[in-house]
Amino acid sequence: MSVRTGRQFLSIPGPTTVPEPVLTAMSQPAIDIYQADFPPRTDGLLKNLQKWFCTKGHTFIYIANGHGGWEAALSNTMNRGEKVLVLESGLFANGWGAYADEMGLEIEILPGSYRDAVDPAAVKARLEADTDGEIKAVLMVQVDTASSIKNDVQAVGEAIRESGHDALFMVDTIASLGTMEFKMDEWGVDVAVSASQKGLMSSPGLAFNAAGPRAWERHQTANMKTGYWDWTFRTGDIHYQKYAGTPPEHLIFGLLKSFELLNEEGMEAAFERHRLLAGATWACVEKWAEAGALYLNIQKPEERASAVTTVMMHDTYSPEPLLAYCRDKCNVIVGITIGALEGHGFRIAHMGYANAPMLFGTLGALEMGLQALNIPHGKGGVQAAIQYLADNVKAD
Ligand SMILES: *Cc1c(COP(=O)(O)O)cnc(C)c1O
Repeated sequence: MSVRTGRQFLSIPGPTTVPEPVLTAMSQPAIDIYQADFPPRTDGLLKNLQKWFCTKGHTFIYIANGHGGWEAALSNTMNRGEKVLVLESGLFANGWGAYADEMGLEIEILPGSYRDAVDPAAVKARLEADTDGEIKAVLMVQVDTASSIKNDVQAVGEAIRESGHDALFMVDTIASLGTMEFKMDEWGVDVAVSASQKGLMSSPGLAFNAAGPRAWERHQTANMKTGYWDWTFRTGDIHYQKYAGTPPEHLIFGLLKSFELLNEEGMEAAFERHRLLAGATWACVEKWAEAGALYLNIQKPEERASAVTTVMMHDTYSPEPLLAYCRDKCNVIVGITIGALEGHGFRIAHMGYANAPMLFGTLGALEMGLQALNIPHGKGGVQAAIQYLADNVKAD
């Protein structure tokens, strides 16, 4: 018995739902790569990336996922054997650090947790103690998609400047670009990394870098550059160089449409929509949490991402039957927990192409599963989400 025939709700934190207009834009024949109207499309993407990263720096498009974006950022700016400081706040900064390690860099992890944002004071203290200037770059994520922590990029950028240290500040915005404010230049970020398939609502397959002036200067003498990732080659005049080969045409068609949708909505409105959906999700989970079986992973509301919410279950309960119920009975796909939290909870994504009814659908399926599986939960979680939005989304 099930009630699953109907639209699938993909509520995982990436890849996210691709809007129909984006799918339609991708559904067209391949075009001549030397066609005159192609370079302006690339320029359009590069400019949109500057706009959403809030930077005047160079932007780059790679045919890769986020992991490729990580490798691009490091290989363009670092010298073999140099040290990077990794600011732990869950899984992903450490994953980036592991790449640095494999690439021949030395890594130091500034220990953090899956429950708290990076502490700017700890970053400042560590950099002040590095009197020989061994640390050449600091790696952080804006949103850790495993823990659902939101780091304060502005505050960490200030801490780095106050320390007087000249390490590059590199930030992974893969799960945050398009969902919340990111001001690369104003916040002192030297390199930003992102990807197409989360807040940007496009197919997986594109990674992005943005490089500020200090990163560009380091790039001149960096000795880990390789042909494909090399920023300099990609800033050449010939369109072919922008992709170091054949452009990923259909991904470009799709992403251009995504930016069109985002620009139509407007940056502030998109960020506000994400804040509202996140607030509704927290209100719902806090209601469920009253019965003691589950809880929000991030305690401080100001440290919670508006893109994704990690919900933990106490050890006597397994998330597996609940997620299976949502999937098999309702066709709602809820994210598993990963990294250190694997097997202990679930993740509700509310990023990208997501509105109130989609969120209600996902929360409703979860509440139905909690009920059907007799997992103790405070009643009325979805009602609390509705109440939250009704209180905050005023009739005009
Ligand atoms: C998804 C994600 C990644 C990895 O991106 P891929 O496209 O899967 O390689 C890296 N960092 C963060 C914060 C992410 O959310």
